Amino acid sequence: MKVLVLNSGSSSLKYQLFDMETEEVMAVGLVERVGLENSVLSHEARGNEKEIVKDIANHKEALRMVMDLLDDKEIGVISSMNDIEAVGHRVVHGGENFASSALITDDVYKAIEDCIPLAPLHNPANKDGIDAIKELMPEVPQVAVFDTAFHQTMKPDAYLYAIPYKYYEKYKIRRYGFHGTSHNYVSAEGAKFIGEDINKLNIITVHIGNGGSIAAIKDGKVVDTTMGFTPLEGLIMGTRCGDMDPAIVTFLESQEKLTAVELDTILNKKSGVLGVSGVSSDMRDVEAAAEDGNERATIALNMYLNRIVKYIGSYTALLGGVDLIVFTAGVGENSISTRKSVVDRLGYLGITLDEEKNKVRAKARVISTDDSKSKVIIMPTNEELVIAKDTFSLAK
Ligand code: ADP
Repeated sequence: MKVLVLNSGSSSLKYQLFDMETEEVMAVGLVERVGLENSVLSHEARGNEKEIVKDIANHKEALRMVMDLLDDKEIGVISSMNDIEAVGHRVVHGGENFASSALITDDVYKAIEDCIPLAPLHNPANKDGIDAIKELMPEVPQVAVFDTAFHQTMKPDAYLYAIPYKYYEKYKIRRYGFHGTSHNYVSAEGAKFIGEDINKLNIITVHIGNGGSIAAIKDGKVVDTTMGFTPLEGLIMGTRCGDMDPAIVTFLESQEKLTAVELDTILNKKSGVLGVSGVSSDMRDVEAAAEDGNERATIALNMYLNRIVKYIGSYTALLGGVDLIVFTAGVGENSISTRKSVVDRLGYLGITLDEEKNKVRAKARVISTDDSKSKVIIMPTNEELVIAKDTFSLAK
């Protein structure tokens, strides 16, 4: 079975075509600036690369161009669009409706629409992707894989906020958590990698990329996670503030006469490592600036690390001990110094780093010493593969 995996953003479309017999990625690509001038389609299929720059009005037009490349006479990897037997979508928000992936029926489609107030930027874009496929390939089964689903095992004491209960009842204001597909994948693969049964482990997964979140997982189920009602809570991220006193929002609103939209932009796009350092949202730039003696970059970096260390400590307490810590995503997989700085501060738990083993990028590997009390590993995440697998099993 050939499965197409789509991740539709408001002005972007990422895609991968999988052959599920071998789990080979047959083609991969990205369309940027959808709906703007000079959109760019970058496509790669079995070593053949192609870039097209032209105005692409919407997701449907973008997908049609992708299909033309997939069954192209010269660089195509399928003979026709009909070879694609199922399409899997990354959907950001499933609210309380979805604890696992779902075949997109009319009811599921409606439920995704109902979650738009919870994810006003993401869910409409995900819906555009679903609509585009419906128009282009009406017979093909579509599956939704939700960023929030894996976290639905949290209990009310972890997911409720201490504000009047009526706001939970009226608006469903609660912790949802995100990056669920990744936390699910790296915890399961991590347990397998160290040869243990996930149902007997306390695991802390540290997904740190541009966005970042940590999850506490007991017996394969999420007990708590750092992202909340939206992806803004928790860790300090590239451009997001993470945890802070909510009174800062009302203070800034009155002092600077800022609107809700302006505040949202400041906290999501202009804060975090970028906001404090003034250098960049990319950890490589901030690490380099700190090494060059840039004081604010050093402070930003230390704040970033402190927050991770704090959450690992608090989640170890919540879980009643930790057996396995998993690093993943852009920073977690690649930044040798971030992993070292974090794990070096876990000595109080009897956790120790093997510095030689830690000198690796983007490879599954145990990086703790043999006598460390808990294992620490790197596990590269692969959200697209999870989406492809779920789509395959639900569409079969
Ligand atoms: P996203 O959250 O957008 O999916 P990724 O998981 O791809 O992001 O992570 C991207 C981030 O990974 C970059 O912004 C960069 O900060 C970080 N990164 C990538 N390689 C390195 C590296 N060698 N050292 C430090 N950080 C890195």
